[in-house]
Amino acid sequence: MEQTFAIIKPDAVAKNQIGDILAVTEAAGFKIKAMQMTHMTRKMAEGFYGVHRERPFFGELVEFMTEGPCVLLCLEREDAVAKWRETMGATNPANAAEGTIRKRFAESVGRNCAHGSDSKENAAIELAFFFAGNTLV
Ligand code: GDP
Repeated sequence: MEQTFAIIKPDAVAKNQIGDILAVTEAAGFKIKAMQMTHMTRKMAEGFYGVHRERPFFGELVEFMTEGPCVLLCLEREDAVAKWRETMGATNPANAAEGTIRKRFAESVGRNCAHGSDSKENAAIELAFFFAGNTLV
């Protein structure tokens, strides 16, 4: 079994899509191992997305991630990192496959409703960034 880190981003939370996205998540075979609502501070968002600091959209990304609450998730299944990326779909919903979460619920490449770790190594780092060890079951 493998774990990955996911976020239901502030756009989807504001549109009352938490339940719909969790339903797709569970139907895709993921066990929800930890779940927490958080309104990220600027410091948290800047730290989490630190690898994108030099990208032109960094400021916009931090504004977006701090505009309202989001849902932090630890998801588990076989091949969780790759399967969650597949279940979410491409970064830009315009390029995402039919039936994926981003195709169904996202508005644009910036406001794209979900996050998923891009490797097992980053999943471990991101889970540790947001979840204390004793909150993961
Ligand atoms: P991901 O792994 O699919 O989330 O994609 P990336 O690691 O490339 O980008 C991280 C996040 O930055 C994306 O999920 C978007 O929220 C945001 N992002 C990426 N590209 C753009 C862009 O061109 N404009 C804006 N505003 N945000 C972007």
